[in-house]
Amino acid sequence: MRILIANRGEIARRIIAGAHKGGHSTVAVYADPDRTAPHVAEANDARRIGPAELAASYLNVDALLAAMADSGADAVHPGYGFLAENGAFARAVITAGHTWIGPHPEAMERMGSKIEARRIASAAGVPTIPGYDESQVPADLAAAADRIGYPVLVKASAGGGGRGIRIAHQPDQFLAALAEASSESERAFGDGAMIVERFIQQPRHVEVQLIGDKHGNVIHLGTRECSLQRRYQKVIEEAPAPNLPPQTLAAMGEAAVALGHNMSYDSAGTVEFIVDDVTGEFFFLEMNTRLQVEHPVTEQVTGLDIVDLMIRSAAGEPLGFAQDDVTITGHAFEARINAEDPWAGFVPQTGRVTHLVVPAGVRWDAAVVAGSEISPHYDSMIAKVIVDGPDRDTARLRLIAALDALVLGDVPHNAGFLRWLLTQAPVVAGRVTTRFIDELDDITAPDASLAALAGADAFRTAAAVEHRRGSVWQQVGPVRLTTHKNTKTMLLDRNDEHFEVEPASRYTGAPVATSIDLAGRQVAVNLDGETFTFVVPRVEERWAPEGSGPGDSGAAITSPFPAIVVEVHAVAGQAVAQGDVLVVIEAMKMLHSLEAKGDAVIAEVRVAAGDQVESNSVLVTFAEAPE
Ligand code: ADP
Ligand code: ADP
Ligand code: MG
Repeated sequence: MRILIANRGEIARRIIAGAHKGGHSTVAVYADPDRTAPHVAEANDARRIGPAELAASYLNVDALLAAMADSGADAVHPGYGFLAENGAFARAVITAGHTWIGPHPEAMERMGSKIEARRIASAAGVPTIPGYDESQVPADLAAAADRIGYPVLVKASAGGGGRGIRIAHQPDQFLAALAEASSESERAFGDGAMIVERFIQQPRHVEVQLIGDKHGNVIHLGTRECSLQRRYQKVIEEAPAPNLPPQTLAAMGEAAVALGHNMSYDSAGTVEFIVDDVTGEFFFLEMNTRLQVEHPVTEQVTGLDIVDLMIRSAAGEPLGFAQDDVTITGHAFEARINAEDPWAGFVPQTGRVTHLVVPAGVRWDAAVVAGSEISPHYDSMIAKVIVDGPDRDTARLRLIAALDALVLGDVPHNAGFLRWLLTQAPVVAGRVTTRFIDELDDITAPDASLAALAGADAFRTAAAVEHRRGSVWQQVGPVRLTTHKNTKTMLLDRNDEHFEVEPASRYTGAPVATSIDLAGRQVAVNLDGETFTFVVPRVEERWAPEGSGPGDSGAAITSPFPAIVVEVHAVAGQAVAQGDVLVVIEAMKMLHSLEAKGDAVIAEVRVAAGDQVESNSVLVTFAEAPE
């Protein structure tokens, strides 16, 4: 086959590699910001599909079909996200005479609606979470919530990736939760239909991987535990799910396969369940009719290549093995490395990968290489670290070792936080619920000054080696380090931190991984999984005076990071009060409101909805600085 991959980032690379292994040729597609992305270089051929805007590029069915025709592709793998669960795209591909590497479109359409999915699950005898949708309720959803009993979860029928979900703890929160979830879904998915269901207080997220073919075979490839989540999105997954009674595991596998048969499921898919950790009951949550982000952990413990199986079943080949032939060996973990600030509400971050040391001996499925620019246009997940071992604890310790060996700067990311998570008692024991991360209250970032000591040592040593080789490098005396702008949190008013390390000061802690760019006068240090990137100014250079950046000016609203403007509520001449939202920007699928810091009169509005802005761009100016 000649397979066009309608996606980007790590999953495009994963599918390209898998397709090549199977002897197929590949066509990559890219939007302008991805022109130099690794997936473009790695495919046999590539086509531009449009500008940065998603609707014009990765979600543009016409552009994708044109790229297929133009490149001679005869099959599509959609990856995950984007159009992966879009039945209309699958139908268009099939109508054009091409092969769709995924389930038949009807399965996608039926499962794309959580309302419909709940009905199908009930019909197949699979337990669903007690709840109602709009068509079933006696009076209205609020009445349904009362009947279910608080707390309840309101959830968008079309939702995905954790969007369109809100909790209402008590009746007076219900209408606001409903309105927010519904409008978020309307915006993101063009559909505001809602479900209200019991909020399971101690939920675990356990899912079952399915694989089917076009000959009526559907089998499962075991379970994954995905309870470690933030913002309803998974960050660490493992296979198999630990600490579940064998009869529960068996019942889940059977329920998933029953559902698969019921729909004549013919590709890779995932049936997600919620396990009530208090009662041990499990309920159907949703089915994802696509390849899942965390599919690698299943591959590690089954020895199967799920992308290869999808391609074969799309080509009409029978699976060729039965349920009894699948064996789960050992244990695997995946850590999702996201460009985000875990120490400040997991706010997405952008920047450039100036330092990258990839841990040895692990599976590294990444969107980025050294030099990659992480733009605000796409998802914040930039890499996945996957490890396995003969047992759960060995695998867990290997993941910690891998995160200790990873140097990834100068973009803030969550590896230090994930490393810390992996040492927490409930995680060590394999007993966490999906609320674990949200309920943490004592997380603290690793100590930058210790990292500075280690960085100064490493930099000095590297300079001394160069000096002995006769290069221009002199012995380095005191080392001044400035945390690079991206190492500090952009949204908190934390200033640049400066460290002066005397020659006599030595780092005496555990060995750390470092990456040094002598010419660029930079050193990146991994301390407890966190990468600190320091600039080592020349002796004669003064440190930048603090608080003088354009972002600190009270007389303007500036963008704290590269973003896309989605709403502008400011008009020249308008008087505004402290806290008024003037501009809403979006980066990596998250919205940020920029507010007036005091009472003021607007002088000039320099942006409009749809504009792309850089970090520190001036968006709105005031006649005089807000008080
Ligand atoms: P999983 O259950 O595998 O975590 P998610 O529902 O979180 O799946 O979505 C899978 C991936 O696709 C995630 O990385 C998510 O951020 C991304 N994604 C979800 N929706 C979209 C979308 N509309 N456009 C692009 N990417 C998306
Ligand atoms: P998405 O399509 O965004 O993946 P899901 O229905 O899979 O939506 O829910 C995402 C996450 O939200 C789950 O993994 C779980 O953590 C949480 N969740 C969903 N439904 C419930 C519920 N009824 N009670 C408690 N938590 C829930
Ligand atoms: Mg889900």
